[in-house]
Amino acid sequence: MKFNNVLDNLKTYEAGKPIELVVREYGVDEKDIIKLASNENPRGSSPLVHDALCKEVSKIHLYPDDSMYELKEKLADKFDVLSQNVIIGAGSDQIISFGVQAKANENNKVLMAKTTFAMYEIYARQSGTTILKTPSHQHNLKEFLEIYQKSSDIAIIFLCLPNNPLGECLDRDDIYKFLDKINKNTLVIVDGAYQEYAKYKDKNKEIEPNEIIKKYPNVLYLGTFSKAYGLGGMRCGYGIANENIIKSLMKLRAPFNITTLSLKAGIIALDDENFVQDCIKENFEQMKIYEKFAKELGFDFIESFTNFITLEFNNDKNSSEISEKLLKKGIIVRNLGAYGMNAIRVTIGTPEQNIRFMNEFRKIYLNKMEG
Ligand SMILES: *Cc1c(COP(=O)(O)O)cnc(C)c1O
Repeated sequence: MKFNNVLDNLKTYEAGKPIELVVREYGVDEKDIIKLASNENPRGSSPLVHDALCKEVSKIHLYPDDSMYELKEKLADKFDVLSQNVIIGAGSDQIISFGVQAKANENNKVLMAKTTFAMYEIYARQSGTTILKTPSHQHNLKEFLEIYQKSSDIAIIFLCLPNNPLGECLDRDDIYKFLDKINKNTLVIVDGAYQEYAKYKDKNKEIEPNEIIKKYPNVLYLGTFSKAYGLGGMRCGYGIANENIIKSLMKLRAPFNITTLSLKAGIIALDDENFVQDCIKENFEQMKIYEKFAKELGFDFIESFTNFITLEFNNDKNSSEISEKLLKKGIIVRNLGAYGMNAIRVTIGTPEQNIRFMNEFRKIYLNKMEG
């Protein structure tokens, strides 16, 4: 069957390998597998969420509240915006797709960093738009601006703050100076999937959605419950923007786009900020151990404002080989070879998981692997 042309140059998104696959393909015992590949919260989610979901199960024969009143109100409260400024999605991924659908088409372009969240490009390709990328892997606003000013038809700019998969994060003040130069008809998607981590580590990285939407009616801010809140399996994310943007995106949303349980999980997760802050504190304590480890073995890393760290190797090592050998030991990481980098991205795990990673990695790195 012939499908639409846009599908011809599309690749299926390759998510981090699930534990079940490593059991099947590598014959590793399930209890020996650690997944440090998808930036999930290694401590899970708040116990309050578990309890609330057990009760909520009695309601799963009912469609969820399609107005999503309670979750929107809570998010509006948290970020000091109005509920008309909020849209809920099946992960913030879904809001990215709405943004792209709303603006990108065959006659315009979108702009992103060379190495950034893969879904920007995938949704963009589905729309038939032209994709422009900066020369540098990491976000470089000078490059963004040069490309933007040379081209009159850029419909969307993606800024991932902090950036997945590299972990770097621009300063708020630099973002604002950049946004001042952008035409109000260009949609700027500010992806804050890791903002909870970034603002904990460095206040200069904090993007406040209420401030940004007041100043910039063309910015769509994104947040998610999948990372710091530990709810990746619930598929719950949100967008915050000027009411006009939200109204347009709402037209693209199917009714009941998240489940009764996802909705409840998001609502209750917001009641337990202590859990989230504890996890973030431990995350950065553990990250310091990774940094020390890298220095000790003599390879580079990118300073990270997230819950993962990108380790970069010299030419004498190969990131694909390292990832494959780790996998055989039951440790799943993200190889960044596909981005033209000799690097791996490792999600910061629990202290026990990190020790295991470092022990196995050291052996592989120093070539002390049998076989
Ligand atoms: C994980 C992630 C998301 C979205 O995750 P959802 O699970 O769809 O909410 C969005 N952007 C970035 C950069 C991410 O890393």
